[in-house]
Amino acid sequence: MTASEDLMDWNSRWRIANGVVWCRTCHARQPEVERPAAFAHSPGCGRAQERCDPWDELDGICKKFDSGD
Ligand SMILES: [Zn+2]
Repeated sequence: MTASEDLMDWNSRWRIANGVVWCRTCHARQPEVERPAAFAHSPGCGRAQERCDPWDELDGICKKFDSGD
């Protein structure tokens, strides 16, 4: 996937505002200062079992943009 496609995919799963990321499914949130911890979805979220690192994922996408991929 291109960086733009990665970003669209990320945006379909997450929402970001004011340094806080939200799960679009369960609306659990995580401020950037807590990024070292695994993202904690709400109980019952279909993605609760996934290992989620939205901040790291977003960083990876930004790096891809920087490298011109
Ligand atoms: Zn969730």
